Amino acid sequence: MSKPKLTLVAMSGLRVGHEGLLQRGLKLPGLARRASALSQLPPLGLLTIAALVPETWDIELLMDDGVTAVSEVAEQILSGKSSTQPAMVAFSALTPSADRAARISQLVRRRNVTTVIGGLHATATPDHCRPHFDVVVQGDGESTFAKLLSDFAGGRGRDSYRADGSFSLGDSPLPRWDLLGDHSPPRYTIQSMRGCPWACSFCAASRLLEPARVKPDERFEAELKAIASRKARPWIELADDNTFASGRDHGPMLESLRRHGARWFTESDWRIAKQPELLSQIAESGCRQILVGLESNVFRYPGMGAKNADWQRMLEAVDVIQEAGIVVNGCLIVGADGETPESMERLGDFLEEAPMGEIQLTLQTPFPGTSLYDSLLRSQRLLPGDFSRYTLFDVVYQPDQMTAEQLQNEFNDLVGRVFRPEVQSRRDSIQKRIRSSRRSPGKRS
Ligand code: SF4
Repeated sequence: MSKPKLTLVAMSGLRVGHEGLLQRGLKLPGLARRASALSQLPPLGLLTIAALVPETWDIELLMDDGVTAVSEVAEQILSGKSSTQPAMVAFSALTPSADRAARISQLVRRRNVTTVIGGLHATATPDHCRPHFDVVVQGDGESTFAKLLSDFAGGRGRDSYRADGSFSLGDSPLPRWDLLGDHSPPRYTIQSMRGCPWACSFCAASRLLEPARVKPDERFEAELKAIASRKARPWIELADDNTFASGRDHGPMLESLRRHGARWFTESDWRIAKQPELLSQIAESGCRQILVGLESNVFRYPGMGAKNADWQRMLEAVDVIQEAGIVVNGCLIVGADGETPESMERLGDFLEEAPMGEIQLTLQTPFPGTSLYDSLLRSQRLLPGDFSRYTLFDVVYQPDQMTAEQLQNEFNDLVGRVFRPEVQSRRDSIQKRIRSSRRSPGKRS
C-alpha cells in the first residue's frame, strides 16, 4: 500500500501590495536587495516540522511565489511532483499571505484533502483561519505536529491544536534541508533564540510564542554543521527577533560560526554597543550586518521597553557597531501617532545623510497579536479590508494627524527619496569602508 502524502506549502513572506510602491519601490536598489534576500530564505519552520513526520508518510515541499494564480498553485499541490494527491496539506503563512493561503486551502479542500495552518498568524488569529482550514495549530509546531499526524492517521483528528509553551529548543530536530533538493539557497537560516524578553507595542515576537527561549549551544552547532556540509562557508541569517537579548553566554555560538567560516546576519537592539568584548567576538565570528530597531528619530514609542533610549545615544551605538566592522541596517518605522508630513520630511533629511550602511523603512503595521493592533481595533481605527494589505508598505489604519491617503503618499515619496540611486550609493560606500576596515591587518581576520 502506498504511503499517504503530506505536502508542506511555504507562502511567500514578503509581498508589497500597494501598486504605487510596487511600481517604484521594488525597482529601487536598496529595497530590491533586501526584498530579494527575504524572498529567497528557506522555510525553516516547515523544514523543522518535516523532521518530525514519521516514515509512514511521504513529504513534498512547495514554495508559493505569491504571484502565481491560486488555482494554478492548488493544481500543483493536488498533482505534486509524484502525481499523487496529498492526504494532507500544511501551510505556513505570515499575516500578509494568510488570505492567499486561505483561498488555496478552499480550492484544495474541495478534493477531500485535509488542510492545516500554523505559524504566527494562526497563533494570533485562529478565528480568522478556522473557516478556511480544517485544522489550526497555535504556538510551537514542534510540540503538536506529530500528535496531529497520529490523530489523523487514527481517524481521531481534531480541528485545533495548541502548544503550551513548554517546548525546549534543546529538543529541536535537524531541519530537513534535503527537501530543498539540489537547490542551495543564497542564505540558510538557524534560530538561536525564539521570542524576545522585551515588549514593544508593535511587535508580536515577545508575546505569541512565550516564553523567550534559547537554543542550547550543542543544538546550534549540530544545525550549523548540517548546513556547512551542504555549503562551505555558508551565509546564515539567524531567524531570531533579538539575538543578544538573553543573558546566555554567546561565546560558544559565536565560536561555532567562526569555526565554520560562516558569514551571517541577525537582528539585535542597539545595546550590544555597550558590550565591547561581545561586539568584537561578534565581528570576529563573521557577522556582516545587524538590523537594529531605531524605529524613529521623532518619537519614542511608549512600548519600546528596555531598548528605549535617547536618539543621540542610539546613533552613537550605530557608530560603535560599525567601527567594530559590522554594517548596521537601521530599521525605521513611519506613521505612528504624532507623525506629520513635516516629521517625515525631517526623517528624509536625516536618512539622506545617516551614518548607517543600510536602512529599512516601513510603515507602522498593527499585526494581530500586538497591543498596537488591540488598541487600534478598540478605537475603531483599523481600515476595512483583508490581511493581504498588512505588507509593511500599505497604510491599514487611520493615522491621527493625516488622512490614510496622505500618509501613504508621503511614505511613497519618502521611500523614493531615501532609496534613490545616489543616496543608496552613499550607503554602499559606507558599507565598502566598513568591509575594508575589517580586512585591515591587526583589526580582525
Ligand atoms: S526589542 Fe525588538 S524583538 Fe524585542 S519586542 Fe521590541 S521590537 Fe520585538
